[in-house]
Amino acid sequence: MPVLHNRVSNEELKQRMLAETEPRTTISFYCYFPIGEPQAFRDELYTALERLKVFGRIYVAHEGINAQVSVPQSRFAALRDHLYSIPALDGLRLNVAVDDDGKSFWVLRIKVKEKIVADGINDPEFDMANRGKYIDAERFNDIIDDPNTIVVDMRNHYEYEVGHFEKAIEVPSDTFREQLPMAAGMLDQDKDKTIVMYCTGGIRCEKASAYMLHKGFSNVYHLEGGIIHYANQIREKGLPSKFHGKNFVFDNRLGERITDEVIAHCHQCGKPADTHTNCINDTCHLLFIQCAECSEKYEQCCSKNCQEFIHLPSEVQAARRKGIEKGHNIFHKSKRLRPRLSDPDHTL
Ligand SMILES: [Zn+2]
Ligand SMILES: [Zn+2]
Repeated sequence: MPVLHNRVSNEELKQRMLAETEPRTTISFYCYFPIGEPQAFRDELYTALERLKVFGRIYVAHEGINAQVSVPQSRFAALRDHLYSIPALDGLRLNVAVDDDGKSFWVLRIKVKEKIVADGINDPEFDMANRGKYIDAERFNDIIDDPNTIVVDMRNHYEYEVGHFEKAIEVPSDTFREQLPMAAGMLDQDKDKTIVMYCTGGIRCEKASAYMLHKGFSNVYHLEGGIIHYANQIREKGLPSKFHGKNFVFDNRLGERITDEVIAHCHQCGKPADTHTNCINDTCHLLFIQCAECSEKYEQCCSKNCQEFIHLPSEVQAARRKGIEKGHNIFHKSKRLRPRLSDPDHTL
């Protein structure tokens, strides 16, 4: 019986990766297609990819696959050939991360999940095979100008805030599973219009497009490869950008600038700014937008409270930290209306 998971310590594996001399290529891909036996599919994939020294994380579900992996450069072609040998994945676009050092992963994890994107859909009639039509950057630029078109941003609020497409409407919910019924409800009167959906890499809007068709919309498109692929296409083809600002991504840069426009504001002083940061107080860790001056003034904290906290003696901090679950806070819509710290009557 082959070993289908790692038995070496995490730290050891990381050291091994760092000791590698061959550069790695980081790629991401996803595909919605029916997988009858996700566990068997997973085990076969694990065996094949481990042989190619692939690292990363992959989710497999009945509805498809979602992967972010790194592969030694010399084995990229072999990885592609293996994936393309799976009929549903033949010819699939593999997105190569441009400025990535390939050092984000040091172990291969392939997990069987209920869904590759959690959607909260329980309706057995819902069918991912019936989804919207792909649209490329060039056609997207045309269709967006049509007055009969409604452009829908299927990302989270904090992503929309720093950059989005012209005319795009936001679906104001903090989770994708809430956004789906909300989007259908918001556009209930527009079932005959052209609906164009987009997200960061395409995986969310592809599902959203299927949901809209399921809800009786007739003309639904989704941006192929999302904003990431759109940005590459406009650069390659010299097309004008209908996207303004920054594309938020969860990597160390917390965003890739698409145009020079700064469309968001510092959450502390209100000045134009679009740099996301995590509050440096690790019991808070709030994700918010902060300008360079406020970053200095508040020492990378989201509030005076957090700033005071980080200056407490470490024993006091540790004592207070007890019982606080270390959460990953994001700047939820509900918190946006929080008074600014510069307001004179604001008390913390
Ligand atoms: Zn500021
Ligand atoms: Zn904070």
